[in-house]
Amino acid sequence: GFLSKSKLLTGLTTFLGSLKKAPKAPTSAELAKAIREQQLFLAYQPQISLQQDTQQGQVIGVEALVRWQDPQRGVLYPDSFIPLAEQNDLILPLTWYVIELAMKQQAQWLSQGWDLNISINIPAAFIKAEGVLEAFDQLTQEHQAVLSKITLELTETAGIECLSYASYVLKALRQRGCKLALDDFGTGHSSLTQLYRLPFSELKIDRSFVSLIDQDQEALVITESIIDLGKRLGLTVVAEGIEKNSQYTLLVEAGCAVGQGYSIAHPLTADAFNAWLREYSPFAPMAHQTSILSC
Ligand code: C2E
Ligand code: MG
Ligand code: MG
Ligand code: MG
Repeated sequence: GFLSKSKLLTGLTTFLGSLKKAPKAPTSAELAKAIREQQLFLAYQPQISLQQDTQQGQVIGVEALVRWQDPQRGVLYPDSFIPLAEQNDLILPLTWYVIELAMKQQAQWLSQGWDLNISINIPAAFIKAEGVLEAFDQLTQEHQAVLSKITLELTETAGIECLSYASYVLKALRQRGCKLALDDFGTGHSSLTQLYRLPFSELKIDRSFVSLIDQDQEALVITESIIDLGKRLGLTVVAEGIEKNSQYTLLVEAGCAVGQGYSIAHPLTADAFNAWLREYSPFAPMAHQTSILSC
């Protein structure tokens, strides 16, 4: 015939390929709907003690990481919708929703007899929001949340123009029992000024340093110095993004208090986390590269 079989086949393949092309980026209207219709959920990444004592390997708690279960696109990760939320006045409703989910999860774990800390990422907009303390108190009441087991991780400190007002709000949250972490320390947004002026209790070393400490002497020196700085300021130092056993060992030797990363566990759905924790042994923290689906 006029069209060869192979040409037809190529045409058909191209056509079918175009049908399952990557879906369009989410819009703010879709995100608003997702928040309303409760398509957001939390994944939990375990944090373990790196302390060189009997506590080593113990699970201290989790970091809650938001995900969006989109009916068309599947699971979306924060990098694909947090900026969208920030640009479209959706970051506050999103943050309240995340805090509420975390408080509900805490109540669930407490009822199982699990005493876990939960770290929640909060944006600068949250600190600046009007009535933030009252709204926070109301949620705390409603869910009977145990604030001494909640850490607020401040991410976009770049958005905080007025350090004295931020300091007032953050102190009030600390007075209620919350812990406060400076996230991604060492990257552009988290500076020494903020560390100095705001009432942090924890310092999180960014993954960009941790991922290099086993290959690059300077990254190791910087990481050791951050750990030393944090300890001298009385802060709990947490390393994020531990992907290899060699990095784990170096962090333990450097005296880092807490660690999280893929070599310990990926972020997990609540069900997967429950299963993971039941299997977990603090004496072999890395032996758990489980078949459990990460999220
Ligand atoms: P983050 O707070 O620094 O969270 C750690 C990120 O590193 C998470 O990415 C986590 O999945 C990833 N991670 C953990 N261990 C490893 C590792 O060993 N290797 C590598 N390569 N990555 C690792 P995720 O879940 O995509 O979150 C990205 C960022 O989005 C977070 O960075 C945080 O800044 C932000 N975020 C997450 N959840 C929320 C939220 O509920 N609210 C707000 N405002 N921001 C959130
Ligand atoms: Mg964080
Ligand atoms: Mg971080
Ligand atoms: Mg980070």
